[in-house]
Amino acid sequence: MAAMPPVRVLISEVGPRDGLQNAHAIMPTAAKTRWISALAAAGLSEIEVGSFVRADRVPHLADTAEVVAHALTIPGLTVAVLAPNARGAERAIAAGVHKITVPVSASRAHALANVGMTPEQSVEALRAIRALRDAAPERSRPAIEGGLSTAFGCTLQGVVPEDDVVRIAAAMVAAGADEVGLSDTTGIGNPAQVKRLVRRVRAEIGHHLSGVHLHDTRGLALANAFAAWEEGIGTFDGSLAGLGGCPFAPGASGNAVTEDLVSMFHDLGVETGIDLDRLIAARAILAEALPGEALHGAAAKWRAQPVAA
Ligand code: ZN
Repeated sequence: MAAMPPVRVLISEVGPRDGLQNAHAIMPTAAKTRWISALAAAGLSEIEVGSFVRADRVPHLADTAEVVAHALTIPGLTVAVLAPNARGAERAIAAGVHKITVPVSASRAHALANVGMTPEQSVEALRAIRALRDAAPERSRPAIEGGLSTAFGCTLQGVVPEDDVVRIAAAMVAAGADEVGLSDTTGIGNPAQVKRLVRRVRAEIGHHLSGVHLHDTRGLALANAFAAWEEGIGTFDGSLAGLGGCPFAPGASGNAVTEDLVSMFHDLGVETGIDLDRLIAARAILAEALPGEALHGAAAKWRAQPVAA
C-alpha cells in the first residue's frame, strides 16, 4: 500500500547543532539559549541543541551541557543532541536529554572523516549507546535516532550504493535505533532518488524510518522535502536561515531552511504548529550573534517585501 502524505508534520530544528558547528564564529552561550527560547516560542517542539563530541574537534558546541540545561526548562520541548559514541551518549544521558541522534554514515570515506569510525563501527557504537540507555534509570532514557548520513551520495566517496543504505538502515534498527532518518549530508540528492530510497528503506525497516535531513547545496532541499512528504515522511530537519554544512564533507552547504519548510507546508495545508512570523523574527538573534554569517531563506525575503496597495 502506498503511504499517504501526512496532514501534520514535525519540523525538527537542528540549527543550534548542525548550523552552529559550521559557523565562522562561536556563538556565545547566552545567545544560543535566547535563540532556542525564541524557536520554541515560535512553536518548534523538537530542537537539536548541541552535540557531545570532543570540544577540540567542534569548539562551537563545547557548551552543550549548559545549553541542554536551559532547553530542559522549556515546557513541552523535546531536547535532542548528537552523540557519535558511548562516551558522548553517557554525557547526554547524564545531562537529561530526551533524544540522542547517533550518526552512522553510509559512505566509508565520510564515516572515517566525520567520526573516525567505519560504518560498521558506528553501528556497534549505536548498539553500545542503546545498552547504556536501557541501563539508565527509567526517567532518563532518551529515544535513540540513527542518522543515516550521506544516504544520497558523498562528496568524498562519490556514489553511495542504495543497497548499502538499505543494509545499514536495517543494521541500525537491529542494533537498537528507535527510529532512523535519512540524511542528505552533502545536499546532492534529487527528488526521484528521495522517492526511490524512501520506498526501499521503508520496505526494509517499516515505521522505523521517520524523517529526512536535507541540505540545500544544489537548491533542491525543498523539492526533496516535498518528494519525501509525498512518500509519507512526516519529520523534516531544518536550520533557521539555512545555517550549516559539514566540516568533514567538503562542498556541503547549508541545511534546508526551517522557515521555508514551514512556509511550504502551510501552503500545502499541512499543519506544523509553528507561527511563521515569530520564526522569521528569530532570525534577528542570528544576525546579531553571528555578524557576517550568510542568512539564507526565501520565506523571510518574501515576507519583507512591501505589500502592493
Ligand atoms: Zn546536516
